[in-house]
Parts: sequence; C-alpha cells; structure tokens
Amino acid sequence: MKREFYKSLRTNSHEEPLGPGGPLCAGCGGQLNLRLFHKALGENVVFVNAAGCSTLLATYPLTPLNSSWIYTAMACAPAGAQGVRDALDILKAKGKLGADQDRKVAVLTGDGAAQDIGLSSTMAAIHRGLDFYYLCYDNESYGNTGFQTSASTAYGSRTATCPITPSSPHGLLHEKRDLFEIWRVQKPPYLATVSPAYPLDLSETIYRAGKFKGPKLFIALTPCPPGWEFDPEWSVEIARLAVETGIWPLKEAIHGEVAHTHVPRKFAPVENYLVRQGRFRHLFEPKRDEETIAHIQATVNNYWSAVRNNEVSSDGAPAPHQDEP
Ligand code: SF4
Ligand SMILES: [Mg+2]
Repeated sequence: MKREFYKSLRTNSHEEPLGPGGPLCAGCGGQLNLRLFHKALGENVVFVNAAGCSTLLATYPLTPLNSSWIYTAMACAPAGAQGVRDALDILKAKGKLGADQDRKVAVLTGDGAAQDIGLSSTMAAIHRGLDFYYLCYDNESYGNTGFQTSASTAYGSRTATCPITPSSPHGLLHEKRDLFEIWRVQKPPYLATVSPAYPLDLSETIYRAGKFKGPKLFIALTPCPPGWEFDPEWSVEIARLAVETGIWPLKEAIHGEVAHTHVPRKFAPVENYLVRQGRFRHLFEPKRDEETIAHIQATVNNYWSAVRNNEVSSDGAPAPHQDEP
C-alpha cells in the first residue's frame, strides 16, 4: 500500500491517549493495538466496549483513556454504538452540539464477542450502515477467562478447553473462522486487518478509513503472553513473525474490493512463528508433529497462491511489495 499520510513514525501523534500502569497483562498486544488505534483516531472518540479483557482498563469511575468510554455486554456493543451515534446526531440536529464537539464512535471488542456472542448485532449494524469504527483485538481465544477456545482460535493451538491429551495430541483441529470474509460479504466501506508490529500500516488504514461514512472495521492480531505462552517482551516480535510467515495477511477491503497492504518479500516458514509459543509446544515436543505443522504451512501456502493468482496486475507484474521501514 502506498501510504498517503503516515510516511514515517514521526507522523504519529506524540500525545499519549492511553495512560500508563493499566491492569492488563504485561506485553498485552491488545493494549498496543488500542494505543495505536486511539492515536490515529484522535481524542474525540466514544469507545463502546464489549465485555472482555479491555473492560478491565476501567475502574469506576475512571478509565486510562483520553476519551469517553461506555461498557456493554458482549452481545450488544454495536447496538450501544448505534445509540451513541443517534444521540450525537440528534443533539447536532437540534443545534445543541457544535460540529467541533462531535465524536467518532468506536466499538472495542475481543474476538469472542466479535466472532461468536456479538456477531449478529455487528452484522445488523453493518447492514444498517452505522457510521462507526470497530476494533476487534483478536487474541484467538476467550483470553480473560482463561484462554478457552473461540471461533478465532488457530489450528493446532492448545487451549483451556482443548488441552493436549493422549486422545487429543494435535491441539484444536478446527480452522480459524475468517471474520474478514464474513464482514466483507456485506461490502462495508472499509475493512482491514492490522498488526501492532506494523504501526505505520495500522495508522494508515485508520486514515484511509476516515474518508468513508459507514462501518469501518479492523481486526488486529493480538499476541497474548499468558495465553499464547511467551515472554511479554516478545509481543511485537511474535506479531511480526505472524506477518512474515504469511499466517496473518495485512489487507484492506474497500466496498468489498480486497488489496494487501503489506506483502513480505520472502515468507519465513510457519514454524518460526509456532515454535516461539507454548500453545503450540506439543507440535515440537516431545517429538515433531509433522502432519499438523505441514497442514498449517499448506493452508498458508494455498492462501498466498490464491492471492498471487488474483492480484497480478494487468501488465503481468506481481502485486507491489512494501516493507515497513
Ligand atoms: S489475557 Fe491476553 S489479551 Fe487479555 S489482557 Fe492479558 S495479554 Fe491482553
Ligand atoms: Mg479473545
């Protein structure tokens, strides 16, 4: 993706929208994503937060956010966002709220609510064309209740509800549900996958989304040290490996038209990503699980083969590559 606005890290706001010392786990990728997302959105935001890890940020009556925040149940954050958007619009229509006092409305939710419990209210909000941002921090589990399986859990992962046992030695053998494609069916104005290891790419997608009125949706890979089992200092490295191995494609869809925003010049083998995480330890110890590793590699290879076949430009050149500086 040719960046129009975020050409270097100096472009990112130096204002910190998220106070330090929050109660989330050390190295939480969700907090990294939220910080970058909030910086790019600015401070005039109302966050509508579905129950999950990020709701632990707030200790009534305080939050560490430089913006407004309301809490909802897991099922209904987009419905809450509709109410906030309507209230703002009614106040504007009555002349009680100036244009400079308007707020962006952003749902903040984990993958449990996004993929399962809140999916129907999200699909309804997209269908209605609600003018809102939606950030799903995807830690591929129900993280704050102890790393139970969600529809977003990665193939081969150990979870609390799929432990490694003699009758289940490979981990979870369900494919991760493709939330990007579920949302893309409705052709929202803007949709993207992002990673905290690519802050310029992440910020640029929010800049690009800001040109559109309607649903603007983001799925952010969220390394989770306690659930994925790695040292908190490696969160950004793990997020980078997910992209470099091709496991986490960075892409956008504008009114349903997909383009990849960053394509690695050379893909690393998926085991470089898997071997760094305890949730996949059983694939390497006490002996390698060649079948499951090969399955994950084949899934990634098939995805990128399809991309190459579809994203060759009219002059026959492959889709452009661009590395984060
Ligand atoms: S459980 Fe994972 S996603 Fe939740 S706060 Fe901790 S590190 Fe973040
Ligand atoms: Mg989750």
